[in-house]
Amino acid sequence: MAQVSDPDNLAACVIGGGVAGLACAGILQERGRVVVLDKGRGPGGRASTRRGESGRFDHGAQYFTARGPDFSALVDRLADEGRVGVWDARLGVIRKGSWSPSTDEQRWVGVPGMNELARAMGEGLDVRHGVRAVGVRRDGEAWFVRGDQESECGPFRTLVVAVPGPQAGEMVRPAAPGLARETERARISPCWAVMAAFDGPVDAPFDGARIEDEGTLGWIARDSSKPGRVRDGVDRWVLHATPGWSQHELEREPAWVVEALLGAFRDLVGVTPGLLNARAHRWRYALAAEPLGTAFLYDGSSRLGFCGDWLLGARVEAAYDSGTALGRAILGGSR
Ligand SMILES: Cc1cc2nc3c(=O)[nH]c(=O)nc-3n(C[C@H](O)[C@H](O)[C@H](O)COP(=O)(O)OP(=O)(O)OC[C@H]3O[C@@H](n4cnc5c(N)ncnc54)[C@H](O)[C@@H]3O)c2cc1C
Repeated sequence: MAQVSDPDNLAACVIGGGVAGLACAGILQERGRVVVLDKGRGPGGRASTRRGESGRFDHGAQYFTARGPDFSALVDRLADEGRVGVWDARLGVIRKGSWSPSTDEQRWVGVPGMNELARAMGEGLDVRHGVRAVGVRRDGEAWFVRGDQESECGPFRTLVVAVPGPQAGEMVRPAAPGLARETERARISPCWAVMAAFDGPVDAPFDGARIEDEGTLGWIARDSSKPGRVRDGVDRWVLHATPGWSQHELEREPAWVVEALLGAFRDLVGVTPGLLNARAHRWRYALAAEPLGTAFLYDGSSRLGFCGDWLLGARVEAAYDSGTALGRAILGGSR
């Protein structure tokens, strides 16, 4: 990990380059140097895009809504630039085996993939991918971050931890046991996801459905129906298992999960076209089941803060609002 030294000791470090961390970093950068460290290979965290043998899939967040003024302003700007678009598809719910449309809210997606949102947010920021933080330490007034390559990064005057609550707590426990304890109240459910590519259109009367019946699947969506996706005749679907099923089968082999979720998918839609490729991804920390109900945690005396969806709710916009609120609080000097 590269050394960072700042003569004015104003540098801030944000661990986690998901939507929350990037929102926070964008605000902190108004006042000084910010370094964002992320263990992932690409942008977005849980709002990212996975590239595989059969193309690209939004395997985490499926869409986002924009309800508040801050996130709406960002979404409007990116829509003007063509980097996000409305997912105008046949979306709804499956209840007692039958699908009905729901048209309650405008649903947005990144274009050409969900990760475009984070890519845009990261522009102008010093985001370092492939860096896993394993611990932090405080030395006098400064924070240092330990990476998994036996290297250390710092000094930083301000440290923001923008990773899911349980991971955040583990990372800071020795240096800040009080704040670490706070993170333990957050409950985050897992989610098994399967990305499946078929050699022709699946014969379903919908492009996305939340499944309210008890069972294996909680959400299925035709990724290829999103705006700006490749039109190559391949029908790409994302299948999400329910939190309960995912928890129960958490340690299964991916190949087993692929078979189980594809079987449940066929039970819903009938015979499918030829399968080109399918793979599973396990989101160990997927959805904030019991968020803390506060926008952020921050200790003004040590200048250590936490943001993320696990504080406000399992939505992209909640992550953005959490990061924004923490950034503003740090610049405003709140404790
Ligand atoms: C399957 C699934 C479906 C979803 N569907 C929707 C949806 O349809 N609509 C919606 O609004 N929301 C949805 N969400 C929720 C949404 O994705 C999240 O609320 C939001 O993306 C969380 O952002 P975040 O920045 O708080 O966390 P994350 O996106 O998790 O960002 C944390 C970042 O920290 C990095 N990181 C973790 N540990 C370390 C470490 N030790 N060192 C360095 N970096 C680290 C990770 O790589 C990651 O990039 C879904 C989530 C999942 C998983």
